[in-house]
Amino acid sequence: MNIILLGPPGAGKGTQARHLVETRGMVQLSTGDMLRAARSSGTEMGKKVAEIMDAGKLVTDEIVIGLIEEQLTSQKGAGFIFDGFPRTLAQADALAALLGKLGQSLHTVIEIRVDDEELVKRISGRFTCAKCGEVYHDETRPTKAEGVCDACGSTEMVRRADDNEDSLRTRLMEYYKKTSPLIGYYYAKGDLRPVNGMAEVKQVTASIEAILG
Ligand code: ADP
Ligand code: AMP
Repeated sequence: MNIILLGPPGAGKGTQARHLVETRGMVQLSTGDMLRAARSSGTEMGKKVAEIMDAGKLVTDEIVIGLIEEQLTSQKGAGFIFDGFPRTLAQADALAALLGKLGQSLHTVIEIRVDDEELVKRISGRFTCAKCGEVYHDETRPTKAEGVCDACGSTEMVRRADDNEDSLRTRLMEYYKKTSPLIGYYYAKGDLRPVNGMAEVKQVTASIEAILG
């Protein structure tokens, strides 16, 4: 079963994807994570995209489609969770073609709906474990022991360079201009299932579980 988690920055896609990986053995494919890994390992592509990411703009379709293609052919698991991909109609078409080539299809597109003011709060309080990637929030999801990851015990926590109000404004604009048309696109295909992302993490998880069965 292959699914897309669709929603604006800070909606909770990564948080919910991690749960599905743990409980169902699915493979999370986050283009944001792949691009950040490329940046920190200093590859040519990483250097090329760093400035674009920090400004909150979208990286070219060619680059992210290439990253997804690489992962689709090299990873195995109980289905893929596309997190932060596709973000443009061209990426959506490319994904359908790539899955078709592998004899696979898309099961569901889950749209996580969250109000804009809430996104600002979520983004400004977000931090993650540098070692295992567990996602936390200063107010809504703090670590149990201060500065220690609940999941792996690491004490190295990081905040993203693009998690500031200026960049978020650009990211939201990019979302509304280029990504939100995907809601209509997948609705018309009959694949779209909205969930209320304003609810608590556990409730959002339960809504997603109910859809996936
Ligand atoms: P995305 O991957 O869509 O950008 P994240 O999963 O990283 O979003 O979540 C953004 C921030 O919001 C994180 O700090 C996370 O802990 C927090 N968060 C996620 N889901 C919820 C929720 N349902 N209620 C409150 N905070 C949440
Ligand atoms: P994310 O981790 O999903 O919030 O993505 C962080 C940043 O990486 C975005 O603001 C973009 O600059 C870039 N990015 C991630 N995924 C994509 C994508 N599918 N298409 C274009 N740019 C992307």
